[in-house]
Amino acid sequence: MGDIQLVYISTSNIQGSEREQLHGLRSILSTSRKNNQRDGITGFLAFDRSFFFQVLEGDRDKVMAAFARIGADPRHKEVRRLEIRSIRGRSFPEWSMGGSMRSPENQAIYLRHGIGSHLDPLKVTSATILRLAMDLQDFERTQRLALKSA
Ligand code: FAD
Repeated sequence: MGDIQLVYISTSNIQGSEREQLHGLRSILSTSRKNNQRDGITGFLAFDRSFFFQVLEGDRDKVMAAFARIGADPRHKEVRRLEIRSIRGRSFPEWSMGGSMRSPENQAIYLRHGIGSHLDPLKVTSATILRLAMDLQDFERTQRLALKSA
């Protein structure tokens, strides 16, 4: 069976300071990378400190199993699946789960996609989330290259 791509948005239950929220995101990413590597899943998780935006891609059964676990996780709520579609190629082939938290450095990327501080989660589309995640992926890649060559 071919690969699928699943996009969802959810409301975070991770409270606390920026540092505590970053720690929460890192903990999610660490488990995600371990499991997703095992399951051949790739994707990107963006956290704007109020909402999570995630793209998951891979074998249909594996992605649906991961999404069932994710949906039951108490670290977020109001998980709203926006799209599942068949794909020929992956948008995030290099990341078992890329991740990024909103910060002053990447704020312009969120704003460019119409995601301000008063986001209405019912109005966000899967196309917006996919484009946001791809731009954040590019930003993270550039940051890493800059760090390596510093
Ligand atoms: P463990 O990590 O050992 O966790 C066991 C149980 O404890 C699970 O039910 C887990 O939900 C719960 N748990 C763990 N840490 C905490 C905590 N700090 N607070 C409350 N409960 C906790 N998993 C993936 O495999 N792939 C993903 O791409 C992925 N993306 C995620 C995105 C978001 C926004 C969130 C919130 C979670 C995501 N997860 C993802 C994690 C997923 O929800 C499960 O926790 C994880 O898959 C279970 O992995 P595990 O079997 O190794 O159990």
